[in-house]
Amino acid sequence: MSSVIRSASCSDTTPEPTLLSVADARQRILDDIPLIKANEKLNLRDALGRVLAEDVISPLSVPGHTNSAMDGYALAGSELPRFGDKSFEVVGKSYAGAPFAGSCVAGQCVRIMTGAVMPAGTDTVVIQEHVLHEASNRIRIDDGHRSGQNVRLAGEDIQAGSAVLHASHTLTPADIGILASLGIGEVRVRRRPRVAFFSTGDELRSIGEQLLEGEVYDSNRYSLYGMLKRLGVEILDMGVVRDNADAVHDALTEAANMADVVITSGGVSVGEADYIKSVLEDTGKIDFWKIAMKPGRPLTYGRIGDARFFGLPGNPVAVMVTFYQFVRPALQYMISGAYQPPLQLTATSTSAIRKRPGRFEFQRGIYQQDESGNLSVGKTGKQGSGVLMSMSKANCFILLPEECDGVDEGEPVKIQPFETFV
Ligand code: AMP
Ligand code: MG
Repeated sequence: MSSVIRSASCSDTTPEPTLLSVADARQRILDDIPLIKANEKLNLRDALGRVLAEDVISPLSVPGHTNSAMDGYALAGSELPRFGDKSFEVVGKSYAGAPFAGSCVAGQCVRIMTGAVMPAGTDTVVIQEHVLHEASNRIRIDDGHRSGQNVRLAGEDIQAGSAVLHASHTLTPADIGILASLGIGEVRVRRRPRVAFFSTGDELRSIGEQLLEGEVYDSNRYSLYGMLKRLGVEILDMGVVRDNADAVHDALTEAANMADVVITSGGVSVGEADYIKSVLEDTGKIDFWKIAMKPGRPLTYGRIGDARFFGLPGNPVAVMVTFYQFVRPALQYMISGAYQPPLQLTATSTSAIRKRPGRFEFQRGIYQQDESGNLSVGKTGKQGSGVLMSMSKANCFILLPEECDGVDEGEPVKIQPFETFV
């Protein structure tokens, strides 16, 4: 079902090469990505955010005992008055951690606190606010109660021997709380992917170095670091590599030996110094794609040995957009065996947006919600693929699909809020 989109003719008369759609490129990548099966045992706190390698079977039932959900008086539901009220003798107390040892018979009840075990002969709790005190050991109850009320049954939440969490599940704060409630201190989780990356470009300098004319500081390694860190993968930052075939070859080989995924930025277009291409053409299986998207048209994907390789464009915004569209889904799949597309919402465009059909545009937007819950969105300003401030100011992508030929002020557009994936 792979569809190839022909970009609408633009300014020049040369026919556009065939372009691959964003969805097809992503699918091709996902079809090639392996799930990491290796796993390790971690204690609960370290396992937060990690992916379970196996089902967790509960050793206990929760609650372990039938207990009271409220502070009040435990009695047999069959003893509740049907009409009018009735007096009960209070024969003891049941506290959380200090149960009542005896049992209740007709006409008796037990003072009980939240979480305390229900005494033998009782199945119902009348809350303390609903009783009248007649004497130090007598209460009176009216007819407004239901048998079985205010009681939590043993095993009601979790049955001993059942799978409480399943393999491939990502552990949340609630999950590690549940595991703790079952007395489980360690869980088996999948190993995190190792991701090596470097920047290419003779013009790139590292922080602390002097900039000569035409040179720029390497920012891609920092935005890449940030995006990878948020995904919780293992990060191997290999620095800047010069535009030189041998240097690029050596760096790629070293990276592929250490990592599951290798990412480079820069040097994948048809410029003179684009060595990545020539270096990779004889090292494994590599595709050079022109993708119908903006920013981020050239993209290289393939394998170096067992490692998966992403050659991202050099422009700083293109790096981030292609990372979120292609690398993040791949890493998500590697980690969990599934790709969950980011949440999309519909917002009203506060201005007209110009666009030609043919490419999927990821414009950077700022969305907000008014008092009635309606969403509106506007662009962050200059949208050039080198303008990283457009990402910094933004809180969402405005999604303009291939066929879209512009948006009028007041028209609905799809957005992807950053807080769900950035
Ligand atoms: P390239 O894809 O190598 O042709 O680079 C495209 C543009 O992105 C050029 O203006 C580069 O200077 C810039 N660029 C490439 N890599 C980086 C980087 N690591 N940090 C900042 N800018 C970069
Ligand atoms: Mg370059």
